[in-house]
Amino acid sequence: MKNNIEGKVVAITGASSGIGEATAVMLAAQGAKVVLAARRSNRLKALTDRIKAAGGEAVFVVIDIKLRNDLVRLVDLACQTYGRLDVIVNNAGISRLSRMDDLQVEEWDEMIDVNLKGTLYGIAAALPVFKRQGSGHVINILSTSGIKIVPLQGVYAGTKNAVRTLTEALRQESGGAYRVTGISPGFVNTELADHIKDEAAKTAIQEKIARIAISPDSIAGAVAYAISQPAHVDVGDIVIRPTMQD
Ligand code: NDP
Repeated sequence: MKNNIEGKVVAITGASSGIGEATAVMLAAQGAKVVLAARRSNRLKALTDRIKAAGGEAVFVVIDIKLRNDLVRLVDLACQTYGRLDVIVNNAGISRLSRMDDLQVEEWDEMIDVNLKGTLYGIAAALPVFKRQGSGHVINILSTSGIKIVPLQGVYAGTKNAVRTLTEALRQESGGAYRVTGISPGFVNTELADHIKDEAAKTAIQEKIARIAISPDSIAGAVAYAISQPAHVDVGDIVIRPTMQD
């Protein structure tokens, strides 16, 4: 293994666009065997074909991260196809911004289900494999929204900070059996904001993204950095934001 990435089996949720897609492309180019998951099968198939055409190794499975058993199917696919799972990147996420007194309770539930419970389901699916192997790596994608709290992002930031908390607990509980990393991106140029229903919040965020956002490759690079460290080195926490971000 030349770079500690080559040959590793890496499952990535939310691989159909944005940070997940960029991470898949970058890791596969460095020799990882990537196992891709999201709901949009056409996007996953196109990405898998693209990675293979470039000489990489990839498979995909369509999952809904809200369903615990779908994460089990993702980990099973990695183990059945490549014989093991070295890393799970819990990246799938949604951002639905609104004032709390707008009572968008369904959106709150959705963010809790995808961002928090989906990450927990990924961890629950991967840990038995990591314990069996005696090695593994959980990488959770957090957000700077959880570091600098601002209006409209209360529930989104809350889900990300819940994941931040459990990420650190998991690291301490790991006893050295597996590595645990949290990565907090700032504004990144992806489709994330396109799905915000509050038009004012959406326009404000999209304007900011157009002005200052960084490429998903910057976050993919952080994932690659964490994986590429020697086994006895755990990268705990990385924050990456545009230089212009306040
Ligand atoms: P994208 O919208 O481009 O990607 C989100 C991914 O999550 C997609 O692949 C989507 O796939 C997947 N996803 C959403 N819901 C589900 C679901 N129910 N089941 C399975 N997959 C799902 O946004 P980003 O790349 O920006 O987001 C990736 C992560 O980065 C998220 O956790 C986000 O919170 C975080 N982040 C992003 C920032 C940014 O500025 N962009 C800043 C800070 C953090 P599909 O629709 O095909 O299911």
